[in-house]
Amino acid sequence: MRYYCPNCWHDVWNEDFDICPACGYSRKEHNEDDYFKRVINALNHPAGEIRHLAITILEQRCDKQAIPYLERLAKESKDPSLTKAAKEAIANINGCNNEKG
Ligand SMILES: [Zn+2]
Repeated sequence: MRYYCPNCWHDVWNEDFDICPACGYSRKEHNEDDYFKRVINALNHPAGEIRHLAITILEQRCDKQAIPYLERLAKESKDPSLTKAAKEAIANINGCNNEKG
């Protein structure tokens, strides 16, 4: 699984990285909640590729908390490829087996 900097969306991270080489964001200073919020915020990012990336990350995480946000995006987005990606992500998250508390 790839890791992304939740600050600048650089995708060179692996588990050993503490500091993002692109923007200097410190992974030690963020927790899971912060990461989730940043990914959710990225669903409204002005760059389409970042919005797609955010959908992909939420899909990979199988986090059902993300579904209402994805549903809203699918409903409100004027970008058909984004709407499609959001709907696919919702279906995949719903089909996920690793239930999270
Ligand atoms: Zn960064």
